[in-house]
Amino acid sequence: MTRPSDTLIDRRGFLAGTAAIGSLALLHPFSAKAAGNQAHLRLMETTDLHVHVFPYDYYADRASDTVGLARTASIIDSFRDEATNSMLIDNGDFLQGNPMGDYIAYERGMKEGDQHPIIQAMNTLGYDASTLGNHEFNYGLDFLFKSLDGANFPVVSANVTKGMLASNPRDDELFLKPYVIVDKMIKDGNGQEHPIRVGLIGFVPPQIMNWDRRHLDGKANARDIVQAAEAWVPEMKEAGADIIIALSHSGIDASDRTDGMENASLHVAGVEGVDALLTGHHHLVFPGPKYADMPGIDAEKGTLFGKPAAMGGFWGSHLGIVDLMLERDGNAWKVASFTTSAPSIYTREGRKRIPLVESKQAVLDSVQKEHDDTLAYVRRAVGKTAAPLHSYFSLVADDPSVQIVSQAQIWYIDQMMNGTEWEGLPILSAAAPFKAGGRGGPDYYTDVAPGDVAIKNVSDLYLYPNTVRAVAITGAQVKDWLERSAGIFNQLEAGKADQPLINNEFPSYNFDIIDGVTYKIDLTQPSKFGPKGELLDANANRIVDLKYNGEPIDPNQKFVVATNNYRAGGGGNFPGINDDVVIFVGPDTNRDVIVRYIVDKGTINPSADANWTFKPVDGATAIFETGPKAKDFMKDVEGVQIEAAGDGAEGFAKYRIKM
Ligand code: MN
Ligand code: MG
Repeated sequence: MTRPSDTLIDRRGFLAGTAAIGSLALLHPFSAKAAGNQAHLRLMETTDLHVHVFPYDYYADRASDTVGLARTASIIDSFRDEATNSMLIDNGDFLQGNPMGDYIAYERGMKEGDQHPIIQAMNTLGYDASTLGNHEFNYGLDFLFKSLDGANFPVVSANVTKGMLASNPRDDELFLKPYVIVDKMIKDGNGQEHPIRVGLIGFVPPQIMNWDRRHLDGKANARDIVQAAEAWVPEMKEAGADIIIALSHSGIDASDRTDGMENASLHVAGVEGVDALLTGHHHLVFPGPKYADMPGIDAEKGTLFGKPAAMGGFWGSHLGIVDLMLERDGNAWKVASFTTSAPSIYTREGRKRIPLVESKQAVLDSVQKEHDDTLAYVRRAVGKTAAPLHSYFSLVADDPSVQIVSQAQIWYIDQMMNGTEWEGLPILSAAAPFKAGGRGGPDYYTDVAPGDVAIKNVSDLYLYPNTVRAVAITGAQVKDWLERSAGIFNQLEAGKADQPLINNEFPSYNFDIIDGVTYKIDLTQPSKFGPKGELLDANANRIVDLKYNGEPIDPNQKFVVATNNYRAGGGGNFPGINDDVVIFVGPDTNRDVIVRYIVDKGTINPSADANWTFKPVDGATAIFETGPKAKDFMKDVEGVQIEAAGDGAEGFAKYRIKM
């Protein structure tokens, strides 16, 4: 029992600020101001944790201040202290997405009775509920349900069925409960406790059936998110839920509703009876400027069709918060007003990221052993490479560090095209050398020796946390893609010695090599496109002898090209490469795909296949700068004649190429 005078102290505490009151936390205005018939309920959301517990980047094998549930836990504690009543909810994608997840799935396994570390960490924090994200299905159903067995909180999912979809969604045979109704006591503004029934329902993108076909085909089906919401929310009302919170592991998209929509949170908000939404999947922050100026969405106030919603970033970076001021309505409760927010665990000062909190020790302790085991795992061999994987000559010759990325991308996209209308089309892959000197300096190259490949080397092979996409384009568009890439080179003259080869204004990440076709680059010709992708000369042709299967490419033939979200989303302004031609949006990072490829193959042999070369330029030589360690690999480079040409500027080494 709380006496009215205690409430008074709390209110003074809020008004006077924390400094005067010492240990009393600053109260949220809803908690401070709630009247006798009102109660403040704070919903706190984590989402897309992807197994991040320690503030650690296992790929780079170093600490990271922007991730980790142990850090989020510290802000959870302080935000919990500000509210008279609160609930902690996770929105899915907890089981996969960093090397700790891969370690458990590929190495340690989940035997009967084993605890999954992310579940173990979550168990220390008093979660009220969770839902499934699409990545929960990445390691198969058996692994998923063994992992969930250890959770001390309910997990709900309303749109994944065991068999075929029933004609009435309420007859669907679901793997999990579609919803739970949590019977909870909440304190009103007078400190009196009352029962409330909080309904929580969960949704996952039905695209899991494509993304995890190999695990789900014949074993599961997925229903349209909004359809499932329309079916179950009225039942939750009938079952006596006072308020209903949608745990929508789905992004926010202002487009009209379509059947099977991946990012359906806005339309879930449109379902009558839904009071508030916790969203995710997009790895973004809501409320927040990324969702500004979209119909139905208030990105400042944090509403979807007028209902409060939040999205708490990813990897523990943020907390999604919905504060509800509830009002008693007879024996029930309804939402009287609300605010939403998404506080972060770190802040930025220029390019620096500054942590705002320390890790919570109890959370770290709960997975210390698995953390240590994961460190050993990322440092240990998971496969072998027969060839050195380096990028010293990646701008002048086909290169093994780019080759392995393309091999993994083609391997993955080939599986993803199964059963789609694109199955059977030739699959090409575009990849660029990310670490190729430049402003990164003379040591900024990929360099993995032959022999063991460890997980931590994969971040060396693939620098950015991009995700996989595929586009369907014509042979003519393949050529233009390569014309745009070939803009990295200066135009050369026949008979002239030591011409500078590279235009240093052109970043190496925009030098895509396309595997699966063969071609030559004729540098006597001007570039068709400028460094920003602008058309310079519509008649220019640097790409010559472009062949598919040994035959000149048919400009009208359709190809699938595996790439990443940056390029497919229009990054680098490549001609015609944008959302309009995207046919596959992968949930997986390119790094995950490389890890899976290496684990699947055991030994890899990504020796470059010299599928692209320069067309000879009569009597010309060109000068190119690379890291000094390049000399160890000079003899292996195929398709181009190279000799050392002394020292370059700032520690680089010069090489001469006979064109
Ligand atoms: Mn995710
Ligand atoms: Mg190649």
